[in-house]
Amino acid sequence: MPETADVIVIGAGVVGCSVAYYLAREGIKVTLLEREAIGSGASAHATGSLSLLGAEFSPGTSFEMARASYAEFHQLVPELEEPTAMDLLYQRRPSLRLALDDGEVDLIRELMVWQEPHVSMRWIDADEVRAIEPRLSPSIIGAMYEDESAQLDSYRFNLALARGAELKGAQILHREVTGLITNGNTVSGVRTASGDVHADAVVVAAGTWSRAFTPWLGFPVPVRPMKGERLLLNYPGEPLPVLISSPRRGHMISRTDGLTSVGSTGGRDYDQRDLFAGEEFDRQPTESARLELLQRAIDVLPDLERAELVQQLAGSRPLSPDSKPIIGPVPGWDGIYLATGHTTKGIHLGPVTGRIIADYIRHGSTQAVSDMTEFLPDRFADFADDDFLVAAQSAEE
Ligand SMILES: Cc1cc2nc3c(=O)[nH]c(=O)nc-3n(C[C@H](O)[C@H](O)[C@H](O)COP(=O)(O)OP(=O)(O)OC[C@H]3O[C@@H](n4cnc5c(N)ncnc54)[C@H](O)[C@@H]3O)c2cc1C
Repeated sequence: MPETADVIVIGAGVVGCSVAYYLAREGIKVTLLEREAIGSGASAHATGSLSLLGAEFSPGTSFEMARASYAEFHQLVPELEEPTAMDLLYQRRPSLRLALDDGEVDLIRELMVWQEPHVSMRWIDADEVRAIEPRLSPSIIGAMYEDESAQLDSYRFNLALARGAELKGAQILHREVTGLITNGNTVSGVRTASGDVHADAVVVAAGTWSRAFTPWLGFPVPVRPMKGERLLLNYPGEPLPVLISSPRRGHMISRTDGLTSVGSTGGRDYDQRDLFAGEEFDRQPTESARLELLQRAIDVLPDLERAELVQQLAGSRPLSPDSKPIIGPVPGWDGIYLATGHTTKGIHLGPVTGRIIADYIRHGSTQAVSDMTEFLPDRFADFADDDFLVAAQSAEE
């Protein structure tokens, strides 16, 4: 007897689990296929920062999508925590985006021009910064103060989405997808080593590994691995009262479990040879990243010299050629959708991606964002490989 579902989702990272959860919540019969383990990709390594600031989002629908997803968390977190009995370490607090040199002042002020009308924020000088957190470096010039931003544990979030989807009827199978079942230009299921699974719709949410679907679809799924490393520290001082980041030195966050997260390395930290060395390389924590990240953190908060390293994480972000996610139906095919390429923002954009894909599958369109043009797969019908390098070097964290 062949296995069947309404929808197959491939990949149990935050994006695939969000898609499965939003579909299952609507009573749709979902089968989620994962070849390794839930949260074994990039999603387990992420900082879980849900900030609207920084250079990741651009004016227009990119920022609209970021705000829409940010708003989802307020309801989604308790909706997952209650039935799963998990604490996602979710915190909503003000944030500081620090400038330690003139270059960082310019970077922050350029973004403020278009972000300020949408987000409650203001520029504060060095004295005001130190009134909030006196332990910060004397070289700080000023900062952008944001009234609210948020952060959670991305691995716990990933697991809670998976469990939440299961509790709403989704099935999670430990299987690697090795091909697609097609009939003309319709996708009607997937092949796995232990048998075929049939469905009316298939969603590719395999993170950086989604590009394996390119030959099967005859359509580019342009995603490449972009390595990121970060550190969890045990810092004996009082927790930081705000979430902290800087354009060139990364983030510094006191988590609600008492650990301090610092990082992350991004495209700018690897030379061209290493930048796209592949997922196995990306899983290896390196000494050079550890030293660099510790130094950057100590530059911002000198007292972190007293901290002890608890864990070093390394993973592959799914980089898209323009750093924007690739979400929606695949041109030329019926029954298959992409949900990948979220680059540095897959945790933040996971919930809205789940909502959008559920909308496409149920209604053929979405109202979650006013215009999906910037995110649809068809923008890459003629993509150029060089774009990856540009996107990686400008990705912040
Ligand atoms: C150091 C670091 C810090 C980050 N910080 C943040 C942050 O603060 N905020 C933020 O929003 N984002 C952050 N990110 C980015 C974020 O982690 C990614 O954008 C996001 O995790 C991508 O999720 P995903 O579900 O698409 O992919 P993944 O989490 O990689 O999941 C893909 C899954 O698909 C599975 N898979 C692949 N191929 C197959 C197959 N053929 N069959 C079955 N299963 C398959 C894989 O095993 C994997 O489990 C960070 C990333 C890193 C590395």
